[in-house]
Amino acid sequence: MEWQSIETNISDNLGRTFALESQANVGGGCINTAMKISSVNETYFIKFNDIDKLAMFEAEAEGLRDMAAANGVRVPTPICTGTSGNQSYIVMEHIAMGGGNRAVMSEFGEQLAQMHQHTSTQFGWHRDNTIGSTTQVNQQDHDWVTFWQQWRLGYQLNLATRHGIGSRTIQRGEKLQQALTHFFSDYTPEPSILHGDLWSGNYGISEQGEPVIFDPATYFGDREADIAMTELFGGFDQTFYTAYQSVWPLDVGYKVRKTLYNLYHILNHYNLFGGGYGAQADGMIEQLLAEVG
Ligand code: ADP
Repeated sequence: MEWQSIETNISDNLGRTFALESQANVGGGCINTAMKISSVNETYFIKFNDIDKLAMFEAEAEGLRDMAAANGVRVPTPICTGTSGNQSYIVMEHIAMGGGNRAVMSEFGEQLAQMHQHTSTQFGWHRDNTIGSTTQVNQQDHDWVTFWQQWRLGYQLNLATRHGIGSRTIQRGEKLQQALTHFFSDYTPEPSILHGDLWSGNYGISEQGEPVIFDPATYFGDREADIAMTELFGGFDQTFYTAYQSVWPLDVGYKVRKTLYNLYHILNHYNLFGGGYGAQADGMIEQLLAEVG
């Protein structure tokens, strides 16, 4: 790592000199090596990965900017991205995290609904990004069902075939793909700006007591996909959901569609980690096909 080129990149983007005084490792990330880097009077958060991951960090920076523009939940302000030695990196505002309480979760719910009220004319995004370390294709489309069929469910099913998931799971998954309109017969989602990977490891409460979301897989999509993911690994506090619904109520069909939206993440987990996620995906496909009748 050549710290000097990183200092120069940060300084150029800040418009003032950033002279590195200290650095410390930060734990907790899934994909990247994270550090806190400080000058005498300011601190930034930096994540590193292999040099070929620069586009991933550029997409992360753009996602953070687009979410910030929606004026909903606080996100770290990206400073710069670049390469140094054989590494690529992203530098962003460092936000010291503190503890949360139920009142903050209520604020979080309201702010996420406000963020989701920021919409586009099409689903997808202007560039691809990553979900975990898997490519997430964001090919823009006016039709949500087509988008989900092809770039979410279809894309992960194709990967799962290559990773050796059972052929019956694939056949059933393809049947589900063909039946997707069933889940949208009386529901037309809007293209909301999404975090895209909103599990409990990707939010924090700042020391000042504000909800903060980070590590996004941003695109414009059905907001139910973000809410579904909050429920996937344990769920957030009930006050979060109540507050969200007080700003923008969810459609009754969410209860069924949430399995469809989380199937994307479970298939992605199968593709990344294998193991029991294949059986879990299979169970979710069967549950959804039972709805189709
Ligand atoms: P990864 O991309 O490897 O999953 P994350 O972006 O989730 O890494 O960050 C790893 C950890 O660092 C998070 O769990 C969080 O606790 C902390 N973190 C993330 N972003 C910031 C930030 N801007 N300021 C301070 N801490 C952060």
